[in-house]
Amino acid sequence: MDQSSDARQTDQSGQTGNIAIVGAGLVGSLLAVYLLKRGYRITIFERRPDMRKNLVDVGRSINLALSNRGIRALKEVGLEGMLDEKAIPMHGRMMHDKKGNLTFQPYGQTGQFINSISRGGLNMELMTEAERLGATIHFNSRCNQTNLEDTELTISQGNTTAVHKFDLIIGADGAFSAVRTALQYTDRFTYQQEFLDHGYKELTIPPGKDGSFLIEKNALHIWPRDSFMLIALPNPDGNFTCTLFFPFEGPVSFEQLKTEEEIKSFFEEEFPDAVKLMPTLVEEFKNNPTSSLVTIRCYPWVRNKTLLIGDAAHGLVPFYGQGMNAGFEDCRVLNDLLNEHEDNWDAVLPAFQKLRKPDTDAISHLAVENFIEMRDLVADDDFLLRKKIEAKLHELYPDKWIPQYSMVTFHDEMRYSEAQKIGRKQRLIMDEVMVRSDIHSRWKSLNFEEIVNQLVH
Ligand code: FAD
Repeated sequence: MDQSSDARQTDQSGQTGNIAIVGAGLVGSLLAVYLLKRGYRITIFERRPDMRKNLVDVGRSINLALSNRGIRALKEVGLEGMLDEKAIPMHGRMMHDKKGNLTFQPYGQTGQFINSISRGGLNMELMTEAERLGATIHFNSRCNQTNLEDTELTISQGNTTAVHKFDLIIGADGAFSAVRTALQYTDRFTYQQEFLDHGYKELTIPPGKDGSFLIEKNALHIWPRDSFMLIALPNPDGNFTCTLFFPFEGPVSFEQLKTEEEIKSFFEEEFPDAVKLMPTLVEEFKNNPTSSLVTIRCYPWVRNKTLLIGDAAHGLVPFYGQGMNAGFEDCRVLNDLLNEHEDNWDAVLPAFQKLRKPDTDAISHLAVENFIEMRDLVADDDFLLRKKIEAKLHELYPDKWIPQYSMVTFHDEMRYSEAQKIGRKQRLIMDEVMVRSDIHSRWKSLNFEEIVNQLVH
């Protein structure tokens, strides 16, 4: 569709033609693609330079786990093809204990996997597609102010500042959204920001001499150590991006690891098999930033003709690998509502926030809970047995008992809030199963039908 000739204009029916998106990140760029395909005129303001022209700024390869919800949105806009060459399937968690012993836990059934994909690579593809469809992206353009009454943005670019008027403004400017700041000054805007005591630092396992993967390629590696953990995701060029999730303060924490000696001896003690593969560990540990982890919840996401989406509306901690996936699902749900209400934004905007808020609240709680699971429980015998029994229930009754991880990660037709609700019920049932006598030796003779029936009734 030629959006320049067909761009919708504001009219009495609540239709809106000229839309500004603040932020050309993952969600802003994908949303632009969706809206361009509907015939809207899209202008994007992005604070950073164009990463396609400044490849040095993309820096270290940083990857993300992309799963079914995100893929469904990419498919809808015809971009799933890029996954063939850019994504690396990860079929399960590979756990590393302190002695270097490995245990593999599949994520789901055969054929179910999540994908490691480059954040920069995916973002660049989405921006290019948005431009191909007609978006104008202004780089080095920071949104300083949003006028919610008049639907205007104040944008600064270098030394110049200008005010731009639109029919609709969408804030896709991430967890520390400038657009959201304007909503925070309005009446009855609820806002909550919660930091974890842990931060994170990215490190690298480089490829072998011949470009080979030095640890299993098709897995998400975890070194769980109770109060902290290291994880690693593969990149197509043979390296792994590792992330250390670690307390900021305390006896075992970032503040205690300052010298080369302290860093080396900590890693040799805790992650001996990984440290052998990390020749630039000390340099990276000292030079790479230590970043914080935040959950952001707010409401409403809409004021007049301004909407928040993606991390700007709901910042998640990364432990369920769902932040981007949830943001992509936001775009799909918004597009569905535009279909349902025939592009009447006056109906779509309130419907969107009402429908979506319980789901993003659910995934934000699940993400924090999964932190505890990943760092403490994946190495715990009771937890492993619980997972085994749940896997058996799923194998025997695939439509009746779906583990919560699978509902969130692989079942894109199920709402996050529904997955959370069923997961809570499953946990209560499993709590009771796990205290049965001699469960570790007798679990195979459990009455699985009786267990699954508790969930159904
Ligand atoms: P962002 O990606 O933050 O993009 C916002 C954009 O807005 C940026 O380009 C920024 O420059 C721009 N911007 C900001 N302020 C302004 C302004 N004032 N004016 C103009 N432009 C502005 N999610 C997953 O699904 N799977 C994972 O495995 C995963 N792993 C993660 C690991 C870590 C360590 C972290 C921190 C997050 C992870 N996430 C993951 C979450 C994911 O990164 C985010 O949910 C996702 O990036 C949100 O996209 P967004 O476009 O809403 O925000």
